[in-house]
Amino acid sequence: MEQWRRRFRGIGEYLERALRNAKQFPERIALQTSDGESETYGAYWRASEGIASLIRQSGYPVKKPVMVYGHKSPRMIECFHACLKTGHPYVPVDCHSVPPERVANIAGQIGDPLLLAVEDLPDAGISAQTVDREQLEAAVAAAPDLDSAFESVDRTAWVSGDDLAYILFTSGSTGAPKGVCVTASCIDGFCRWALTLGDAEREGAVFLNQAPFSFDLSVYEQAMSFWAGGTLYSLTKESQDSFRLQMEALAASRARIWVSTPSFAEMCLVEPSFDEQMMPDVRLFLFCGETLPNGTAARLLERFPHAQVVNSYGPTESTVAVTACTVTGQMAASSDPLPVGRPRKGTRIDIVADNGEPVPAGECGEIVIAGDTVARGYLGRPDLTAKAFGTDMVDGKPVRTYRTGDEGWLDASGMLHYRGRLDLQVKMNGFRIELGEIEENLRRLPCIKAACVVPSVKDGQIRYLVAHVVWEGERTESDFRQGLGIKEALKDVLPHYMIPRKVVFHDALPMTPNGKCDRKALARL
Ligand code: AMP
Repeated sequence: MEQWRRRFRGIGEYLERALRNAKQFPERIALQTSDGESETYGAYWRASEGIASLIRQSGYPVKKPVMVYGHKSPRMIECFHACLKTGHPYVPVDCHSVPPERVANIAGQIGDPLLLAVEDLPDAGISAQTVDREQLEAAVAAAPDLDSAFESVDRTAWVSGDDLAYILFTSGSTGAPKGVCVTASCIDGFCRWALTLGDAEREGAVFLNQAPFSFDLSVYEQAMSFWAGGTLYSLTKESQDSFRLQMEALAASRARIWVSTPSFAEMCLVEPSFDEQMMPDVRLFLFCGETLPNGTAARLLERFPHAQVVNSYGPTESTVAVTACTVTGQMAASSDPLPVGRPRKGTRIDIVADNGEPVPAGECGEIVIAGDTVARGYLGRPDLTAKAFGTDMVDGKPVRTYRTGDEGWLDASGMLHYRGRLDLQVKMNGFRIELGEIEENLRRLPCIKAACVVPSVKDGQIRYLVAHVVWEGERTESDFRQGLGIKEALKDVLPHYMIPRKVVFHDALPMTPNGKCDRKALARL
């Protein structure tokens, strides 16, 4: 009966696993960072109970999202799980990737949220009920001892089933980020499948965390690690900013399961000593979020002969990933571009034409995901939700569907092949960027009359972004200086990875015959 109840409680299972691991291995390291912080399962559980008490005592309305601001310290994860324990979805906001005005925008979209500030908040008119570092520290210090914390576990408030577990804000084409609402059962469903990818033993493994917690790629290793009693090894910004420190951290990590964007692995492959000798424990490279180039897969398989490479595919809107396949050396040599895998159990992939009707077998069209890990929609945006989300039946169960805006086709064996985007969303170094959001923010600058952003592509990969702008009125400075000013202004509102590297000034933007900005012509310049 108890087991049955847990199965239907959704995240109950994920937290239940974390609790079981905390009880069984209280001295095992649960969280470690490349900056030298580390925390045992026992300490993590106790601390998150302390923060959960603080949230309960705040009187904050149940189910309302809680922002968690910081980087990769163990306290972030303690806060996430404290939210789940008290019935609140958490909203992770990475202090290095999200600029102040964007933090304020997210807070505004939630509406005066409770904000757990693991790092000091910028002074940017953020309207929130803030709990600062000292208050979090005091809550952790006041937590009950571990035995009492285990005894007093109260599952009644745990986020479960179709309750929201987290909200991730991604780039939005209308000029502001949009919050993807992921439920508790989405995480459980995703995690059960993720743990079956590749053959590597998960129990007690070290899971590498490269992506910031505000990106859904990081849910891969967070969920798997807590489920399997592993150690989450986080590479901090400080170590990622220095190639030498990054390599030292990777060598010290003892990681068995590697999760990153392909771009990150490519960067590591530049270093000749990045191989099995340097990281002898790696058994699985798990990729998601952007195209995995054949050469990257081939070189990894060469340098790590005891490891498998898995390519997986999926958007934040469907909880990290929904298809995956193991890439063999033969596949890397012969199948270009690499396929992105077969759907997980519980997910169906449909390929549809513009009108939403299925295309004939084997033809290219928009990828639609139907399944039990599709998110509930976008926070406070029923209009955007209605455009992209729907409902359908999979394996006889009602599920949500999501129109991805990705183009692809299914081969006769049910393998999905990705062909690119149907809109102006791009991926650069693994970051999801809506060119429309940059353009909208450029147009909001008083000096700019028209703007169009195009990616600069080399060897099939986006290297940087170029902003083409039409200036309003007289220009007083050189193109270079004026361009710098524009980039500085954008830094207040956009993450660093969305700032165009080059700004090109025009008297007028080229137009297509039907009156749209001619992006192809600009890309050729
Ligand atoms: P995100 O929501 O940041 O995970 O980005 C999702 C988008 O990344 C998808 O809609 C695809 O356009 C792209 N993407 C994800 N996985 C892959 C993959 N394995 N190969 C190519 N593109 C991918």
